[in-house]
Amino acid sequence: MFAQVIVDVPAKQTNRPFDYIVPPELRTWVGIGSRVGVPFGPRTLQGFVVGLAEATSMDASKLKKIEQVLDLMPPLNPELVQLARWMSRTYICHEITALQAMIPGALKAKYEKRITVAEHNGINGGDDPHGAPGQAMLLPESPEEQAILAFVRQKGSVTTDMMLSRFPGAGPLLKRLLEQGKLAWEQTVKDRLNAKKLLVVEPAADAGTLVSASGRLPAGAKRQKELLLFFAEHPEPVPLAELTDKLGVGAGTVKSVAEKGWLAVKEREVFRDPYAGKAFARTAPLPLTEQQRGVLKPIAETLDRRDHRVFLLHGVTGSGKTEVYLQAIQTCLDQGREAIVLVPEISLTPQMVERFKGRFGDAVAVMHSRLSQGERYDEWRKIGLKRVKVVIGARSAIFAPFENLGLVIIDEEHEASYKQEESPKYHARDVAIERAARQGAVVVLGSATPSLESYAKSVSGKAGRDGEDASSYTLLTMSERVEGRPLPEVHVVDLREELKAGNRSMFSRGLYEAIERRLRRNEQTVLLLNRRGYSTFVMCRSCGHVVQCPHCDISLTYHQVSRTMRCHYCGLSQPEPKTCPSCESEHIRYFGTGTQRVEEELGKLFPGIRVIRMDVDTTSEKGAHEKLLSRFRSKQADVLLGTQMVAKGLDFPDVTLVGVIAADTVLHLPDFRAAEKTFQLLTQVAGRAGRHKLPGEVFIQTYTPDHYSIVTASGHNYEAFLDSELEMRRQRGYPPYCELVLITLSHEQVPLLVRAGESFASRLKQGWERLRPKAAGGGQTEEPYFEVYGPVASPIPRIKDRYRFQCMIKYRGNVDVSALLAETAAAFDETVRKDKLQISIDVNPQVLM
Ligand code: ADP
Ligand code: ZN
Ligand code: ZN
Repeated sequence: MFAQVIVDVPAKQTNRPFDYIVPPELRTWVGIGSRVGVPFGPRTLQGFVVGLAEATSMDASKLKKIEQVLDLMPPLNPELVQLARWMSRTYICHEITALQAMIPGALKAKYEKRITVAEHNGINGGDDPHGAPGQAMLLPESPEEQAILAFVRQKGSVTTDMMLSRFPGAGPLLKRLLEQGKLAWEQTVKDRLNAKKLLVVEPAADAGTLVSASGRLPAGAKRQKELLLFFAEHPEPVPLAELTDKLGVGAGTVKSVAEKGWLAVKEREVFRDPYAGKAFARTAPLPLTEQQRGVLKPIAETLDRRDHRVFLLHGVTGSGKTEVYLQAIQTCLDQGREAIVLVPEISLTPQMVERFKGRFGDAVAVMHSRLSQGERYDEWRKIGLKRVKVVIGARSAIFAPFENLGLVIIDEEHEASYKQEESPKYHARDVAIERAARQGAVVVLGSATPSLESYAKSVSGKAGRDGEDASSYTLLTMSERVEGRPLPEVHVVDLREELKAGNRSMFSRGLYEAIERRLRRNEQTVLLLNRRGYSTFVMCRSCGHVVQCPHCDISLTYHQVSRTMRCHYCGLSQPEPKTCPSCESEHIRYFGTGTQRVEEELGKLFPGIRVIRMDVDTTSEKGAHEKLLSRFRSKQADVLLGTQMVAKGLDFPDVTLVGVIAADTVLHLPDFRAAEKTFQLLTQVAGRAGRHKLPGEVFIQTYTPDHYSIVTASGHNYEAFLDSELEMRRQRGYPPYCELVLITLSHEQVPLLVRAGESFASRLKQGWERLRPKAAGGGQTEEPYFEVYGPVASPIPRIKDRYRFQCMIKYRGNVDVSALLAETAAAFDETVRKDKLQISIDVNPQVLM
């Protein structure tokens, strides 16, 4: 038997399957979707089996054998393997990159280099039948050399770490032995998880102690310092191996810091249920409201017909979308099929998980990034073992290896986090629709504020109506909150007027009084401070100098705990400056996260007020998010203050006031979706108020009270927003009136980059001229449209010392943009390989930087 294997070398020449022999002893274990270790050139690589056959078109005598099978059960299945091929074509990425994106991080290829005694080194003595290369044998052996060789021979193979901890300072000798061929490298494929126990590292002292300890270390101990500062900010345990990957520190460094008593290395059980021990009260289906019944009916009917169809469920906040999801899933499970629920990472709060676990119990697996690698791996395996029927998770849960998928639900479908920003730059919504189409499954896109792209594709009416475009979505609407609860009353406050009236506080008089009323009535308040736009940069108040990264054209971010300045693009970290690097003034200070300042101000205005602050600083610790929310729910605080995290998905009965400190922060971003994002955020956060018996009230503070996104959000008027926004998009030629592709090229030298950018753009245009006659034919009603903009410098013109230029394609209609991009990119292979040009292609970009 022969297997076709996609190997782990993301390059054009290897972006095709290679044939291997499946040795008889491995046959039972190799299936389509299996991970295998295969010889490739001088190395052993991980690969995925994408085909199996009794015959091969290659010369079978020249083929090599599969060396290892890495799983008892293939982690992927034939359908996912095909989906990876589709992703590779659609998103212009290598197939291996798509396959790797589908599996949990724990299963990603990891190679281990180990040192062995070279087979024919002549050191083994004269009885080596293969003889030996002359030179090495003649060199005299020092006692140290002998000891090293004996050590390796005794162990079979060793890692560099093992070697150096046994023979500290033997680095140069080791290098020489490898060069002389007395020792050799051996590379093996290794699972990140192959043991039930894992070594984890955790801080053994509090953040302050770690920071001051790091200050006392000698200047040379850079790695140790880094390690201490890392744990000062991330107090949760980290697997030792992950630490090595993340920070590049060796086990030796960890060990010496642990010996000083600042860190602890422990063995921990990794295969465990993240929700074990938590009891989820079982819930029964609720009697549906009329609107809920109205939208569930066409979904259930489509499921019953085993049809593929996409529904866009536009339901106002509090209209009871979750109950619709739950009952649709029940229908799907009753048919013996499986369901995937995607929610934004941020909404994966216990509240959301509880609703699904409460209804379907142990049939639910949960996947999100706050689980440890082991936990995620374990949840993933439950799917393969068919122990679960429902997966709820963030973006990558769309790749759950179900074989009988009936339903995919995407909650808050407009969320940008469904788009992956690194390769493969896929959008989970598009992947879901493609996967469902192949499986005859139903997709439900739910939102109170659907994305313009989805809304434009939807048509109202019954599912499967005649004459409807097969790719269009069916629009379902729920316009009322459950039990006729009113939407909250929204006040828009003009901050310019406040200033005129002499109010210099960040709280308008209206919001101030509203908070005061809540305190008196023992009701709760949610305050949103949009973090974007409020960064934590360090600025000189004398000369206005902002501390920037020397390698990237972006300001450094201040980290309070470690008092360091970091670059979020290249990871550079340096101590906070005492004086201005530009004018040497001492008036250099950092401009805080905003949330901290709001918290301080609240304390001054309302002495004794209990505030829970939720932002990246207070939620970095594992489980912190959950703890803060449960404290708020049990009314241990009056105010929940936070960034976007507080805007979504929360459902607390006593929250009757929502305040938006500054609504404009997103509005002025250089992004054509700025108004849409503002409208969505305001609508979502307003939707947190008055969801139960008590009516809600919302204050939106802004400097631009007349902007249509703010006016329409305050009137809960999605349709009016849509009209204005669509008009703007039409005039300026943005989605949904066309599709976009963003191509970013980067290089260390500007001249080469400019040449490459110009040539890329002109090749695209030429390619289109060749395609155009064919595209325009075929009875298409609309003329296809294709335009290339740029090259121009990117909004962040330099990252990690590489300059960046971008081209933008806008197109519409019958344009085979994938083929065009693949063909154009292929013409640059040479430049990419030889001159280290980097090309990044983002199809339907969400971020235009
Ligand atoms: P959405 O996701 O649309 O904002 P939720 O699904 O969170 O709204 O529902 C809002 C509230 O209404 C929740 O507390 C939920 O338990 C409740 N609810 C939903 N459907 C019903 C129903 N049919 N009868 C009674 N309460 C319901
Ligand atoms: Zn940088
Ligand atoms: Zn200065």
